[in-house]
Amino acid sequence: MELQSSDRMDMIRVDGCPLCDIFNNKELKSKLYYPESKDGIESSEFVVVDCVSCNIPMVVYGEHLTSVTSEAWGRILYQCRKIFGNTITLKPQQRTIRDHIHWHIYNIKRR
Ligand SMILES: [Zn+2]
Ligand SMILES: [Zn+2]
Repeated sequence: MELQSSDRMDMIRVDGCPLCDIFNNKELKSKLYYPESKDGIESSEFVVVDCVSCNIPMVVYGEHLTSVTSEAWGRILYQCRKIFGNTITLKPQQRTIRDHIHWHIYNIKRR
């Protein structure tokens, strides 16, 4: 019996959604900030990658949803601040892909 892996089978993913694709296959064309390696993407709650069209980092939630719980939001914010510093602002970007929540990250402190 393999119950552990079935956890992730319940994830809401949509075929043909470019953001779901990030989680479904490991062909990532842009820079990955979180998780640390591509092997961790499939099981990660969210990823932080460079947006190919804007060239700035963005957070993509691991499920095809329009909102996240406040607990999930807390984890996202914590992780992003850890990577980019406390000055960051996360702006939801639903213009092109409306039904899969993602945020672009602004005000990154230059090191
Ligand atoms: Zn999606
Ligand atoms: Zn973008």
